[in-house]
Amino acid sequence: MSDPSYVLVVNAGSSSLKYRLVDGETGEAPADGIVERIGESSGRLKHTVGDAVHTEERAFADHEEALQAALDAFEEHGPSLADAGVVAVGHRVVHGGERFSKPTLIDDQVVAAVEALVPLAPLHNPANLEGIAVARRLFPELPQVAVFDTAFHQTMPPVAYTYAVPRSWLTDHHVRRYGFHGTSHAYVARTAAAALGRRVEDVNVIVLHLGNGASAAAVRGGFSVDTSMGLTPLEGLVMGTRSGDLDPAVHIHLHRSLGWSLEEIDRLLNRESGLKGLAGANDFREIERLRAEGDEAATLAFDVYCYRIRKYVGAYSAVLGTVDAVVFTAGVGENGPEVRAAALSGLTALGIEVDPGRNAGPVSGPTRISSDSSAVAVLVVPTDEEYEIARQALAVVRRQ
Ligand code: ADP
Repeated sequence: MSDPSYVLVVNAGSSSLKYRLVDGETGEAPADGIVERIGESSGRLKHTVGDAVHTEERAFADHEEALQAALDAFEEHGPSLADAGVVAVGHRVVHGGERFSKPTLIDDQVVAAVEALVPLAPLHNPANLEGIAVARRLFPELPQVAVFDTAFHQTMPPVAYTYAVPRSWLTDHHVRRYGFHGTSHAYVARTAAAALGRRVEDVNVIVLHLGNGASAAAVRGGFSVDTSMGLTPLEGLVMGTRSGDLDPAVHIHLHRSLGWSLEEIDRLLNRESGLKGLAGANDFREIERLRAEGDEAATLAFDVYCYRIRKYVGAYSAVLGTVDAVVFTAGVGENGPEVRAAALSGLTALGIEVDPGRNAGPVSGPTRISSDSSAVAVLVVPTDEEYEIARQALAVVRRQ
């Protein structure tokens, strides 16, 4: 019998807790779930086993109650965590700063280090820490592994991560570009190479992770050499509710000329901008529906969204020198043929040519959508961050 390889993957947000039981070797996921509206007067747990969905509506006072309810759901509806032989809990942690470039076995010192990074990710790291604390209490016997969103991008060279600001900002205050979505970029780059029948070490790829949050990455031989998000996830592509790239003086103007507070500007740029700010909807399906009806704001939002992607593809083609593949992933990237076509149209000079028929076809697993004459392969690769977290957590545990 092979060694047990199941990992319970936990992704704790400020008011939600997502979990998935994943085989770290194969990616098979027999069950997953989410507890939403933690701390509110009415919350909801949704536990999915195959085609069966079990829901429970009640209040969940805190993350501990939420995770306990998830464990109860495994007991009641299966599969049994004890029978599965879970070998680790894998935690998604958003910011690992410069300290963490690899998945890391969690102990008190690691918790303290993640706490020290809270100023860099004030919304995310505290929630991730809460998930870690709760899981350590409920699974005292299991190794817990932190997998950082920033870790994959720690291979970026100084030219890519350095902002042109006084040097002491970096040396004293760690102000630099870090990048996020690293787990997805790593998984997708590797999977794309495999789909091309190449070793990841031998290919250069541009990964476009287009979800609610969105980022591009330039990956050379399996290593991230540049990515579009920066100190925080605000920089780069246009997103559901985030502006992406912006003249930093916009903040100064809004503050100085209009008297808006930094807190308000922060909220507006992170929660009320992007597609939502431009067209009133952050769900891409809604943008497409409005655009099809001829809505001008939605049409502009779509165009701005695609134009920004195109600029990054051009920039990263220059960064990489030669590009073997441009790869679309996440909600919009996997399901938005119109975005894919618009973002890459007219790039034949860069060797990039999307085939309309292939682009319109169904995507289940890695799919080539470029024409046969396209020098650069264009692929759609469904991302699987939970599998990647499980895979990395399993590798850490097996090294012990
Ligand atoms: P996240 O994990 O960042 O929350 P996802 O990767 O799930 O995000 O992507 C969410 C986005 O994907 C939303 O904007 C949603 O509208 C979009 N999306 C999902 N399905 C489709 C579809 N069929 N067509 C276009 N966009 C889609």
